[in-house]
Amino acid sequence: MKQSEMLVPTLRETPAEAELKSHQLLVRAGFIRQTASGVYSFLPLGKRVLRKVEEIVREEMNRAGAHEMLMPAMQPAELWMESGRWNTFGPELVRLNDRHQREFALGATHEEVITSIIRDEVKSYKKLPLMLYQIQTKFRDEKRPRFGLLRGREFIMKDAYSFHDSFESLDGSYQKMFDAYNRIFERCHLNFRAVIADSGAMGGKDTHEFMVLSDVGEDTIAYSDTSSYAANIEMAPVITSYQKPEEALQPIEKVATPNQKTMKDVAEYLHHALDKGLKALMFKVDDQLVLVVTRGDHEVNDIKLKNIYKASTVELATEEETKSAIGAGFGSLGPIGAPDTVDVLADNAVKNMVNTTCGANEDGYHFVNVNPERDFKVKAYHDLRFITEGDVSPDGHGMIQFAKGIEVGHVFKLGRFYAEKMNASYLDDQGKANTMIMGCYGIGVSRTLAAVVEQYHDDNGITWPQNIAPFQIHLLTLNVKKEEQVSLSEQIHQILEDAGIEVLYDDRKERAGVKFADSDLIGIPYRISVGKRADEGYVEFKERKSGQQEEVHVSHLLDRVT
Ligand code: ATP
Ligand code: MG
Ligand code: MG
Ligand code: MG
Repeated sequence: MKQSEMLVPTLRETPAEAELKSHQLLVRAGFIRQTASGVYSFLPLGKRVLRKVEEIVREEMNRAGAHEMLMPAMQPAELWMESGRWNTFGPELVRLNDRHQREFALGATHEEVITSIIRDEVKSYKKLPLMLYQIQTKFRDEKRPRFGLLRGREFIMKDAYSFHDSFESLDGSYQKMFDAYNRIFERCHLNFRAVIADSGAMGGKDTHEFMVLSDVGEDTIAYSDTSSYAANIEMAPVITSYQKPEEALQPIEKVATPNQKTMKDVAEYLHHALDKGLKALMFKVDDQLVLVVTRGDHEVNDIKLKNIYKASTVELATEEETKSAIGAGFGSLGPIGAPDTVDVLADNAVKNMVNTTCGANEDGYHFVNVNPERDFKVKAYHDLRFITEGDVSPDGHGMIQFAKGIEVGHVFKLGRFYAEKMNASYLDDQGKANTMIMGCYGIGVSRTLAAVVEQYHDDNGITWPQNIAPFQIHLLTLNVKKEEQVSLSEQIHQILEDAGIEVLYDDRKERAGVKFADSDLIGIPYRISVGKRADEGYVEFKERKSGQQEEVHVSHLLDRVT
């Protein structure tokens, strides 16, 4: 393919708004362009890479026994009302009205749509289990879209859903998906870990996230290279210490508020709680239930308190209110699409909370989705043991280390959550109606692409793994004014294309220096430069990642590249 005929707008300068390497390089190398905040266009190079990642995902999904389908982005609000998520999903859900003022959501995830299809079409246990997936654009109006493709407001996801007549059957499909995910991320040549994740108050028990190890990751994981243990520390951040109540309350009193009485009430409640050794309280703020936790650095979680300052009424939630909040899925909206802003109580914390109204301070009881390290010092837990860096892993093999991770995939046993709310049932072999059991499985396809760039780049540009690269070979004519260079290049282009090799042919009227720089930036694994020795049939063959280069005669070129 001739580069002169293609749209590959490379940039010398780093775009000002791009903080991360993947964002900078994908823009600079002409793979993507921002259309709006968190909304990107994939240019031809970007689209080629995206397709390769999608193809890996597709092959492994098919192999796991899942079947591809395609669901609409535009989803009627009624479905989301049935599941209850129309009210609980929050501002991340993009909502719109049609010309008749009917309400719709743009799919942030597809549990509702798939469940509505399955409840209508599957009536018998004989059709179960069933695994379906799609690769499609998702919409989430993220509070802070950033880092390019890593956190977009419109992005490509593979989402899969499984339906079962027993938990054993769900376990089987979950394991198949888990294995498929491992193969997918291995085939993307990523350094990743599958980690135990938090299931929130959804009632599901098993859930794993697939985390690409990267300093720019927004999650923190605890793992050991010599053990099979790995967990998202979100699993169990615990408060390790707090100061005397008076000091803990200082930040509250310093902040100006339009409603001094409210603030004083909150301060009193917190004071009281801290005195009793409690670390969190459930408040009713303008009729909204809000959880306030104390911070390890002895302050109070100011994010939540901001809402409280603005409120006109604040009271401590009653036991009944706490229970009803939890019953309504307070804070837990499922693995795909859970907003990051809501505090989620883990199952055991919920139990304790219900018993004591404002508890959750005992060993092993914990809060999740509060921001670890910012909100308090963090330890991870497993089987109610607390873990920190340098500890022996729970299975006794190796020492725990912490690392930052990018969540590229998430598998989740949903159980009967959606099927119950949306009446998805089947007849068992006795002719009796039963609620279906479900699993859901997501991969951020466009995020995975960016994660690959985070792990595969150097000072000069991207260094794509071969199977994901947009092309296999970058062919450069160093001086297009030299007839022998052009004709040898054309000849090589032909030979390579005939051999079915993907080749990007830089036939542009640019200086050699520009071509080399662009080529390094784009990161195609092998480069053939046709230059001074073209008349003898010699070209320079260079490996992008290692920088190794050698002179190769055109007659040996195919042996070298295949
Ligand atoms: P995060 O914790 O990063 O917000 P999430 O837990 O909300 O992600 P899921 O609901 O589990 O995401 O969705 C499945 C997958 O979709 C995630 O594992 C991730 O790879 C991808 N994904 C989620 N949000 C985004 C986004 N804003 N941009 C790109 N990919 C995303
Ligand atoms: Mg997730
Ligand atoms: Mg999210
Ligand atoms: Mg997440």
